Amino acid sequence: MWLLLGLFAGLVVVSLMGGTYAIGALPVAAAAVAVPLVARRPRTLPWRLATVGALAWAIEEIAWSVNRRYDVFAGTFLTDATYYLGAVAWFGALLLAPGKRMSRTLVLAVLLPLAFLVWLLVEARQEAMDLGFPLTELVLLLAAVPFVGGVMRGGASEGRLLVALGFYLRTLCAAAYSWLEGGTDVSYLTLWLLSYVLLAIGVYMEVNDVHIDIIATGVAIVCLELVGARVLMLIYQRPTLRDGPEAIAFIGSLALVQFAVVIVVLLNNNRRQVEAQEELRAWATLLERVMGEPGDGLTLTGLMDRALKRVPSLHGIEVHAEAAKGSLTGYAYPLVTGGTEVGRLFFPRQPERTAVLDTAAPLLAARVQHLVEHNRWRTAALTDPLTELLNRRGFELRLPEVIAQARAQQRPVSVAMVDIDHFKRVNDVYGHSTGDEALKALADLLVRHLRPQDLAVRWGGEEFLVVLNSGLPGALDAMRRLRHELSGVTPHQIAWPLAASVGIAGGAVPAEESLREWIEAADAALLRAKELGRNRIEVAAVD
Ligand code: GH3
Ligand code: MG
Ligand code: MG
Repeated sequence: MWLLLGLFAGLVVVSLMGGTYAIGALPVAAAAVAVPLVARRPRTLPWRLATVGALAWAIEEIAWSVNRRYDVFAGTFLTDATYYLGAVAWFGALLLAPGKRMSRTLVLAVLLPLAFLVWLLVEARQEAMDLGFPLTELVLLLAAVPFVGGVMRGGASEGRLLVALGFYLRTLCAAAYSWLEGGTDVSYLTLWLLSYVLLAIGVYMEVNDVHIDIIATGVAIVCLELVGARVLMLIYQRPTLRDGPEAIAFIGSLALVQFAVVIVVLLNNNRRQVEAQEELRAWATLLERVMGEPGDGLTLTGLMDRALKRVPSLHGIEVHAEAAKGSLTGYAYPLVTGGTEVGRLFFPRQPERTAVLDTAAPLLAARVQHLVEHNRWRTAALTDPLTELLNRRGFELRLPEVIAQARAQQRPVSVAMVDIDHFKRVNDVYGHSTGDEALKALADLLVRHLRPQDLAVRWGGEEFLVVLNSGLPGALDAMRRLRHELSGVTPHQIAWPLAASVGIAGGAVPAEESLREWIEAADAALLRAKELGRNRIEVAAVD
């Protein structure tokens, strides 16, 4: 791409050196239009026609150049034939190209330049010049205008703008050529060259699907301004034209400036379209990911992380009463499903368009709602409602993770089985609800003593399993403190302090199955503690 731009800059400079150089540079520029097309070998009819058109015009310019330089060809038959062949092919290409659309902006954008061109043509008639040439170009320009429509919807590369501008320049040149009696003057060649530059870069960007706003804008504006300067120069070099043409020069420059401004507007519009498309794509990928995954594979946190990662404009997400991620400031957009707001999305500022969001958000909201319900159900199924500790099913699910982490970090693990002494008496003397209170008090105490990676499980009745990330001495220490504090949390109705017996096992880095063995060993140690008179800790013998 940069090579191409460099080549054209070089050609323009060579062409400005005038005379023979300009005659030589023109066919090179014309051939450059055909090169990307031939290299790509397009398979669709419009681009095949464009290839024919580009090749025909390249041949025309070569023939013309040789003709001018050496006067080899007597007639102009070859140049005329290839010119009209190229024009017909380009016309077909422009008409058949997909993604065309007329819009009001486009009509406004071309109105003034068109009026200017028509006026030039009317002026030209007075000179009794052949109008076939500029009129052909005008028809091509008209066919090229809707071609830009695809760019405006973000569905085509910015190159199309340059192609359309290339045709605009050709029409301008053709009209000026007729009107300014420039048939023999090589000074016009730079203008023609610039039209080929626009066509070549435009075609290159289009067939290679290059989207670089800055190049399209830069090339368009540089070319248009060069044309403006060149036209003014030409007019002022001709004394006979100096009076009338001032107005024309003025209008022409105005038209060019207007065209340049419109291009900037179009490109900006296009950028926004591209952004909108990117956002649509981001949302589509996100929804595809979070919708496709079965409930077990996706957590609410996972969903929120993905949403923040996939949708660049999103900077925070909140699920009411459950979780939040990112920054919860700025513009809030509600996540509503079934008439209830389940959460909110946060953007740094109010989005310009919400069409994509309006479509995507309810789907995301439904998924969020589903996950929230799934979470509730999971929680209900895997935890004990009285103590809010894991139940045995919950423990079974967490077990592989605990083992894997300990093994990965080569950390020792111990298990302790805790059982309240003479708990039946609590129930018998004070009733079941006081018994429940005592169980909750012990559960809270366990949770307070645990570190985040430790686990407390209600194993059954008044028996609790604790998985500690420490060796035997650490576990023994923790259980001593627990037993020490147990009397302090005894519910006030109970006249005697609660006591518990504890069996401890493990104290090593676990192998895959060792935790289950340790639990059995801790259970046996607990039984021994009971037999030995209760209110004590027994450690299983290490084998
Ligand atoms: P030991 O010192 O041998 O452990 O004697 P214990 O009385 O604590 O043990 P036992 O296994 O004989 O009795 C356990 C009692 O715990 C029986 C049961 O009614 C009671 N229990 C089990 N689950 C609950 C519960 O959820 N709430 C209440 N209040 N009591 C429970
Ligand atoms: Mg007991
Ligand atoms: Mg028991």
